Amino acid sequence: MVDVIVIGAGIGGLTAAALLQERGFSTVVFEKNRFPGGSCSSFEKGGYTFDAGASVFYGFCDDDAMGTLNLHSRIFRKLGIAVETIPDPVQIHYHMPGGFDVPAWFDRDRFLESLCRRFPHERTGIRKFYDELESVYEILNSLPAGSLEDVIHLGVVGARHPLKVMALGVKTLFSMGNVARRYISDKELLRFIDLEAYSWAVQDAVSTPLVNAGICLADRHHGGINYPVGGSGTIPAALVKGFEKFGGSIRFGSEVSKVIVKNGSAVGVRLSDGTEVSAKAVVSNATVWDTFSKLVDDPRLRIPDDRFIKAPSWFQIWLGVDGSIVPPGFHMHHIIVDDWSKYDELGGTIYFSAPSVLDPSLAPPGKHALHLFVTAETWQWEQYEYRSQEYKAAKEAFAKSLIARAERLLPGIQDATELMVTATPQSHARYLNRRDGSYGPLLKPGQNILLKPQNRTPIKNLFAAGDSTFPGQGVIAVTYSGVSCASYIARQLGKALDYL
Ligand SMILES: Cc1cc2nc3c(=O)[nH]c(=O)nc-3n(C[C@H](O)[C@H](O)[C@H](O)COP(=O)(O)OP(=O)(O)OC[C@H]3O[C@@H](n4cnc5c(N)ncnc54)[C@H](O)[C@@H]3O)c2cc1C
Repeated sequence: MVDVIVIGAGIGGLTAAALLQERGFSTVVFEKNRFPGGSCSSFEKGGYTFDAGASVFYGFCDDDAMGTLNLHSRIFRKLGIAVETIPDPVQIHYHMPGGFDVPAWFDRDRFLESLCRRFPHERTGIRKFYDELESVYEILNSLPAGSLEDVIHLGVVGARHPLKVMALGVKTLFSMGNVARRYISDKELLRFIDLEAYSWAVQDAVSTPLVNAGICLADRHHGGINYPVGGSGTIPAALVKGFEKFGGSIRFGSEVSKVIVKNGSAVGVRLSDGTEVSAKAVVSNATVWDTFSKLVDDPRLRIPDDRFIKAPSWFQIWLGVDGSIVPPGFHMHHIIVDDWSKYDELGGTIYFSAPSVLDPSLAPPGKHALHLFVTAETWQWEQYEYRSQEYKAAKEAFAKSLIARAERLLPGIQDATELMVTATPQSHARYLNRRDGSYGPLLKPGQNILLKPQNRTPIKNLFAAGDSTFPGQGVIAVTYSGVSCASYIARQLGKALDYL
C-alpha cells in the first residue's frame, strides 16, 4: 500500500508525483511508455534529438518577480534540481498572407511597434488590447498557485488579495476575442489576434478565455520563453530525477488497465499484467475520456460527447536537414498561414520549429533538427492499415506537401532534407493512450474557464491532473494542474504543501 498512485508520467502526473513525494507521501507512477513526458518528451534518431510535441516553454525565468507564477523555476528549486535553459528572443514568428510577417518579440515594445507600423490606424486599440492582457497577467503573477477546490487556499488568497481576486473573477467572464473587439476593428488585425489564440488554444480568440491569454500572450514579455538545453525531454527527465531523489518510484512499461473502486472510493489500480497495487489516493494523468471510458468501469460516469469540444490531433514531421538552408538569425518557432479562410481548418496552419538554432547539440555538426505539424484527425487516416505500404506512401505524400508549403519560410528545405520521421493522429493516440490523439477537451465558446474540470472527480479519492483539467492544454497549464492536484491531496492526507 502506498499513499498515492499516479497513472501516467506526463508533465501533469509527474509534477503532482514529485511534489507529493517531496512532501513525504510515498508515491508510485505507472507509465505505459519506456520514457517520461508524454506530449513533452524527446526522441533520438540518426544523431538528432527531436521534440515529440511541445517546445514553447513558459515558467523558467530566474527572477520570481517576473513571469506568471514561474512554476518550473519554483518547482525545480524546491526539488533541488538544476535545469539549464536558453532564452528565446521570439516566442513565435508569424508568417501570414499578404506579406504580413511579425515576430512576437520578448521585447514588448518592439512587438507592439511592429504591429502599430502595419496598422497605424489601430495604434491606440493595439496598446489598449495588449494592456488588458497585461492587467490579467499582473493579477495572476501575484497570486500563489493552489487548488480552486481547496477552501483553505481560497480563504488565504481571498483574505490576502481581495481586490485582485474580485478583479480576476470579473475577467473570467470575458473572452480574448470580445475584449479585442472592444478596441480594434481592423479585420486583418483581428485575424492576427485569432491566430495568436489559435497558436496554443487551437480555437479563435472569441472562444479563448481572456485569463488564458493573460498568461500566454503577456508572460512571453516578462518571464519569457526559455528552451531547455537538451530538448523538451529535459523537463520530464528532471522531474523524474527530483521525484526519485525523494524516494519516489516510477515504473516504465507499466500500463494501468483499471482503477479499482470499492464502495464508491478509489483504492488502487490494476496493471495490464494483472498486478494490483493499493493506495490512499489515485491520480489519473490520462484524458478525461480515457479515464472515464477505459480506466473506470462505470457507464454512468462516461463523458457525454457534447460535454466538451474535442480538439483535433496532429500530423507531425521531424526533419534532419543540411544546415546551410537555415540563415543566421532564423528564429526557433514559426507559424505559417497561406490562406486566412483556411487557417482554422485541418492542416490550415503550419507550426514549425528549429530547436537546433538555439541548442546546436540537438543535431549533428552542420545539420539542423526541424519539427513541422498541422492539425489532423484520426478519421483522415483510418482507411489505411497500420504499417501497410499504402499507409506509409500516404504519410510520405502528405508530409512532402507540407514541406513544400514550408519552402516559403526556408527556401531549399525539400532538397536539403536528409532524414524524415512522420506521425499521424493514430500514432499520437497509440503512444499516449489519448482518445483519437486529441490535443484535449476544449471549452465551448462563451463557457467560463472555471467550468473546466478541476482535480477532484465523481469518485472519492480518484483525482485528475493534466490537460483535461483546469486551466487546460500546454506544459505550463498542466504543471499548474499538477501543483493544484498535489496541494489538494496533500491537505486531504493531513500534510499541506507549502506555497511554491
Ligand atoms: C504536437 C504538439 C505540440 C505542442 N506544443 C506545445 C508547446 O509548444 N508548448 C506547450 O506548452 N504545450 C504544447 N503542447 C501541449 C502540451 O504538450 C500538452 O498539453 C501537455 O504536455 C500534456 O500533458 P499531460 O500531462 O496532460 O498529458 P500527456 O502528455 O498526454 O501525458 C500522459 C501520460 O500518461 C500516460 N498514460 C496514459 N494512460 C496510461 C495508462 N493507462 N497507464 C499508464 N500510462 C498511461 C501516457 O503514456 C503519457 O505519457 C503540444 C502538444 C502537441 C501534441
